[in-house]
Amino acid sequence: MAEYAVAEHALIACHDCDLLFRKPRLQPGQKACCPRCGAVLFRRKRSGLDQSLALAFTSLVLFMLANAYPLLRMNIAGRVQEGSLLTGIEELYSQGYWEISALVFVVTFLAPLAKLLCLFYVLLPLRLFGRRAPKAVLVFRWTELLSPWAMTEVFMLGILVAVVKLADLAALTPGIALYSFASLMVSMAAGDAMLDEHEVWDRLEAAGD
Ligand SMILES: [Zn+2]
Repeated sequence: MAEYAVAEHALIACHDCDLLFRKPRLQPGQKACCPRCGAVLFRRKRSGLDQSLALAFTSLVLFMLANAYPLLRMNIAGRVQEGSLLTGIEELYSQGYWEISALVFVVTFLAPLAKLLCLFYVLLPLRLFGRRAPKAVLVFRWTELLSPWAMTEVFMLGILVAVVKLADLAALTPGIALYSFASLMVSMAAGDAMLDEHEVWDRLEAAGD
């Protein structure tokens, strides 16, 4: 998996001095520097598509667990209530905070799910068949656009603040979804760090439809 084709006509420009040259083929862990000004143009990460796909699959399983099970169980003076991510969004909506519920739905549910599905759509055919799926270039662009909107870590921080504030009022028991959500945050961050966009773009350019 270390080697992959680079399109023959691929040219890149230095970000600092605009020098144009043919894109070099790098080994994992190597970096390309501009021959004129020495600026680092791009690096090849040590990880490959296998690691990115494995992390995307892990994230998808954790995402399903995080949404299928309750986040927290609250016991307030004998009254037990369980809440999940989606029931929380519904609750916000029913209380009239439709803007906040829409925002929470987008950044904690829609964007992470869409990002993971887009990654699978682009990476799986490249890895398994060396081919690009229809409109894969467009879909990979969406994946990059969706990344800033998938804010699992902000949501996790919100849950922790709520837990600390509620701890004096009610007995709280963390649910499976809370652990899944915390793990999802780590696996999505690891997936972002491992994904080598340059490699994916090179493969997309070189692969046939
Ligand atoms: Zn330069």
